[in-house]
Amino acid sequence: MASISLRNVTKEYESGTAAVHGFNLEIADKEFIVLVGPSGCGKSTTLRMIAGLEEITSGDLIIGETKVNDIPPKDRDIAMVFQNYALYPHMTVYKNMAFGLELRKVPKNIIRQKVEEAAIILGIEDILDRKPKALSGGQQQRVALGRAMVRDPAVFLLDEPLSNLDAKLRNTMRAEISKLHKRLNATFIYVTHDQVEAMTMGDRIVVMKDGYIQQVDTPQNLYEKPCNLFVAGFIGSPQMNFLRVVIKKVGVGYTAIFNGIPIPLPASKTRNLAEYVGKEVILGIRPENLHDNAFHLPQNNVCHVPAVVELAEIMGSEIYLHLSNHDTRMIAKLPPHSDSIDKEVVNIVINCDKIHLFDPVTEQVICN
Ligand code: ADP
Repeated sequence: MASISLRNVTKEYESGTAAVHGFNLEIADKEFIVLVGPSGCGKSTTLRMIAGLEEITSGDLIIGETKVNDIPPKDRDIAMVFQNYALYPHMTVYKNMAFGLELRKVPKNIIRQKVEEAAIILGIEDILDRKPKALSGGQQQRVALGRAMVRDPAVFLLDEPLSNLDAKLRNTMRAEISKLHKRLNATFIYVTHDQVEAMTMGDRIVVMKDGYIQQVDTPQNLYEKPCNLFVAGFIGSPQMNFLRVVIKKVGVGYTAIFNGIPIPLPASKTRNLAEYVGKEVILGIRPENLHDNAFHLPQNNVCHVPAVVELAEIMGSEIYLHLSNHDTRMIAKLPPHSDSIDKEVVNIVINCDKIHLFDPVTEQVICN
């Protein structure tokens, strides 16, 4: 049983850097949790505190039923996989995987069995006699995973394990780690700065910034219901477009005025708007909800915004059209054969059902 609770956990380094503030999280047994955020936001520090490699300044860390703040790493039933693999260069792959078990005086026949089992799962059974320098990056990463697997830990901690691999291999390994999680029945905590990795791997994602948790949610909820501007901008690629608008009351409804253009807001978006009438708010709309053709959209909830075409990025399966209206820049994700790429000016259609509104001062969401 490896549920993990972090209760009001903080970390202040001796240098005085406050790296993690009041971190609260309940991780369920066998869950795949991803910590994501920009460099320096406190992801690795959090993971290292769970591993026991970094002391907790205040708060409680509970694994299963036990408070483990003061329990050394080797007694926490966890295994960590690092970004740089940390393989012993002078040992063979077999020995690298077996070494930790040998230190624990596990019988030789059991070690052989465990190493061979892990090697087969990871597809490295033919390279057990090689030294790390004779391996590709992907193979080294598999060995590092194998070394963690042979210990049968209840919790795997992975710190940017794929960041040294090229893009193609990263995609392959991403899927392999997800499959491994299903197969091993263990709790996984995975650190990355890459939101695509987070979205594709996590059961739940913890978005962090400046040592604070911003939002903990499923990938779909983070995407559809971001709690603030930071999460809205961090999750999704190309990122959400942000337009400065002023809220106006029109009859019983509300309209957002963008550079003089009225964007009618559907009733579902207006719950909390009364206090914003006459004020500026930030309207968020994802690139896939900007269209150059309204034929498949419900006609009552669309509006048209003229925009100058600045650049068309042809991606094969889609086109990213870079647009501007006065000093506001936007990106629309369009189907591959759109003729808008040949135009200088387009009438962009906003699907108003997909609008998000944010408070420009608090940066919190007003409605999703
Ligand atoms: P991330 O993993 O999100 O990139 P880190 O957890 O590594 O972030 O770092 C969080 C903050 O703590 C950063 O400001 C970093 O400079 C600082 N930090 C990390 N490790 C140490 C350390 N050993 N001593 C002092 N400050 C550190």
